[in-house]
Amino acid sequence: ADLLAVSARSAPLGARLVLLLVEDLTEARRIEAVRRDFVANVSHELKTPAGALSLLSEAVLDAAEDPEAVTRFAGRMQNEATRLTNLIQELIDLSRVQDNDMLSQAELVSVDELVTEAIDRCRQQADDKGITIASGGTAGLSVWGNRGQLAAALGNLVENGVNYSPPHTRVAIAGSLVASAGGEQVEIAVTDQGIGIPETDRQRIFERFYRVDPARSRATGGTGLGLAIVKHVAASHGGEVLVWSAEGQGSTFTLRLPEPGSARERHLAVRRDR
Ligand code: ADP
Repeated sequence: ADLLAVSARSAPLGARLVLLLVEDLTEARRIEAVRRDFVANVSHELKTPAGALSLLSEAVLDAAEDPEAVTRFAGRMQNEATRLTNLIQELIDLSRVQDNDMLSQAELVSVDELVTEAIDRCRQQADDKGITIASGGTAGLSVWGNRGQLAAALGNLVENGVNYSPPHTRVAIAGSLVASAGGEQVEIAVTDQGIGIPETDRQRIFERFYRVDPARSRATGGTGLGLAIVKHVAASHGGEVLVWSAEGQGSTFTLRLPEPGSARERHLAVRRDR
């Protein structure tokens, strides 16, 4: 693509148009390939728990005389069913956040409310592992955007913090308003004391279905879609998501969003121009 761009600039007009057409076709092919990959991935991810459920139900039927085995198989069926439900829910979330018009439902959203919702979402898992979730610095902070999407994004980050941490550790959510070159920004940082993420994986974890350790992620009901959703939400809100991590020590995921006043103005201006 770089070569094409360089030659396009120095070529005569007719040749330039042909080159642009070629670039367009290449882009269309790339999008088509991404779409095909995605469908193949989704089919594979759906087939695995569905296949396991089918095998386990056969095992339950065969073990009808052995109540202990039935209980064990039923437990595993429950896990597979949960995985299937999580996956479908996250696919719905992903298609929702990819629909840019969701931003037409933008409003002023209190960060405190987002934090409460995110904590509620994984309170059970956290309690089961004896993990405490604490928050601070969020009072009075707000962001501009789609409440459901923002809640899903923060919820995913907190959920990961709980999932990828050993028992009896702490997940901290910290809100702050920071000055940057482009104006003030709202930061919501989620820090855990978990397993951390190897450096080689750090950029790839935001890709759909990418997992550092598929077996571990599967055991926690993970789908590999959570961070892809977070990244989409951050980008569609004019922000970004950053990761810091040290293996064996923990990770911090920071959701950085534009200060609500400027975000609202920009958003309303875009809608007026439509
Ligand atoms: P999953 O559903 O598998 O959790 P995500 O997209 O949310 O999918 O995350 C992708 C991968 O990134 C996970 O499988 C895990 O390997 C890694 N990961 C995400 N968050 C954390 C974290 N807080 N600590 C350690 N690893 C993490």
